[in-house]
Amino acid sequence: MRNATPNAEWHDAHMMPKNPTRAQRVQWHAEHELACGCRPVPASIEADVAASNKKRNVHRSN
Ligand SMILES: [Zn+2]
Repeated sequence: MRNATPNAEWHDAHMMPKNPTRAQRVQWHAEHELACGCRPVPASIEADVAASNKKRNVHRSN
């Protein structure tokens, strides 16, 4: 199980834009997954998020 409690500090500092571009969503979720992970990455961008995090040598355990 991943973090059950949202990282409220991170969320305060990383608000999702109102009308985010795909790139913004990928970036947000990539960072979110590392910092918090209170919600799953949407399937539509999951591959891009995984690729983005792979660059940082981060392995998602699911
Ligand atoms: Zn979160």
